[in-house]
Amino acid sequence: PRWTGLKVRQTFLEYFAERGHDIVPSSSVVPHNDPTLLFCNAGMNQFKPIFLGTATGDQAKLKRAVDTQKCIRAGGKHNDLDDVGKDSYHHTFFEMLGNWSFGDYFKAEAIKWSWELLTKVYGLDPNRLYVTYFEGNAEMGLEPDLEAKQLWLDNGVPEDHILPGNMKDNFWEMGETGPCGPCSEIHYDKVGGRNAAHLVNQDDPLVVEVWNNVFMQFDRQADKSLKTLPAKHIDTGMGFERLVSALQDKTSNYATDIFTPLFDKIQTLTGARPYTDKYGKDDVDGIDTAYRVVADHIRLLSFAIADGGYPSNIGRGYVVRRVLRRGVRYARKYFNTEIGSFFSSILPALVEQMGEQFPELVKKQGEIKESLDQEEVNFAITLDRGEKQFEKYAALAIKNGESKLSGADVYRLYDTFGFPEDLTKLMAEERGLTISEEEVEVAREKAREASKAVKESVTTFPKLNVHQIAELDGQLKIARTDSDAKY
Ligand code: ATP
Ligand code: MG
Ligand code: MG
Ligand code: MG
Repeated sequence: PRWTGLKVRQTFLEYFAERGHDIVPSSSVVPHNDPTLLFCNAGMNQFKPIFLGTATGDQAKLKRAVDTQKCIRAGGKHNDLDDVGKDSYHHTFFEMLGNWSFGDYFKAEAIKWSWELLTKVYGLDPNRLYVTYFEGNAEMGLEPDLEAKQLWLDNGVPEDHILPGNMKDNFWEMGETGPCGPCSEIHYDKVGGRNAAHLVNQDDPLVVEVWNNVFMQFDRQADKSLKTLPAKHIDTGMGFERLVSALQDKTSNYATDIFTPLFDKIQTLTGARPYTDKYGKDDVDGIDTAYRVVADHIRLLSFAIADGGYPSNIGRGYVVRRVLRRGVRYARKYFNTEIGSFFSSILPALVEQMGEQFPELVKKQGEIKESLDQEEVNFAITLDRGEKQFEKYAALAIKNGESKLSGADVYRLYDTFGFPEDLTKLMAEERGLTISEEEVEVAREKAREASKAVKESVTTFPKLNVHQIAELDGQLKIARTDSDAKY
């Protein structure tokens, strides 16, 4: 393609470098020093101290910056995990291209440059672009952003391509607290030759949000109020994969040269049929969906582990574990692969493709492989038994005319077989069953109480002799058998 991923990224960085921006590296995708944040979810994360006015040293001197940032949205305020595999434009891991002004230029330049870059440099058809501005919010005391609207008009965007947007779409927030502000976004119609204004922000896969220009002005407080920041800033974020997809004239991010090498590798490894970019019911055998899940997940897993986000039972580590287990299960079901070193055998293709831009992948390749293999092997032990158990639960539910898998079943699959809830939910969906989060929570709470009771009884008997231990063990076995007998 004329616009290879490599060239698209380079062009973005150079365009802003020529306009006085320092090219800065992506920050770690694991935000080791921000406890409010699960994973880096936007380019602005590393600049949070500048926005809040608490930056020190070299960072405090930064006026204009540009970069491509590694982002993960698989938990917390921005969570796209459930869309991955199903749609053509959300990934759990993606690159966000961004340019920033720290108390320097503001809306006029940001809008002018984003329009010029997209239409003049990249050459996207302006008739296919739509822009949005914040419509205001009386309750929060926020005015409509008519200034942004006027600036788009001044840049030659026709009025019927400029749309107002609400708090959800046009007021960007990093998390429950932190920097935020009204935003103005650019959407691209992948079909063209029509007016697609009514399809903007409607989850239409053919009219996709590409670039967000945020006008940073506030700091959301824990009590939900908005505190005005010491200065006004520009913070933009453009989905690299979405831009590449538009420039390569593809309807899907997955049909670009960003994903093709990964699909090729998966195909070589598994002997599966080639990827055909089909979705939903059109993906009759589910293989395309599995390709997307595996290719997406290897990216998240590798980048998270490279930055020190190892799989574990809590917090960030549990997100990584969940993603791996989800991927492993897809690989086994749809590609019939041996489990143990499947993900690490895709890794070389990823390293070859992204190692130059992100040298940490090359440097940490050994550690990534080791961690992936260990985690896969661990799960392989229970995957089989867990799937069989799941089949039993599902069959029983269906036989009883239920449309739902019980919360106790979902919890037991987690507790005994290490099946994360979202994985069980997916498997249930394949069977036409739903799960209820509340029921799972009740089961979890019950288990918590029970384990608390066990802990308390243990502290009352600090030293048990072998006979007492044998007796307790016997009781536990009986209890287990009782609860299993139901099934
Ligand atoms: P969407 O509405 O499509 O979910 P968003 O409004 O949540 O996107 P922003 O928070 O505005 O996204 O992030 C800035 C840009 O990052 C978006 O305009 C989009 O191009 C890109 N982006 C956001 N989420 C993803 C994702 N899960 N995968 C790939 N690109 C993404
Ligand atoms: Mg989103
Ligand atoms: Mg959006
Ligand atoms: Mg957005």
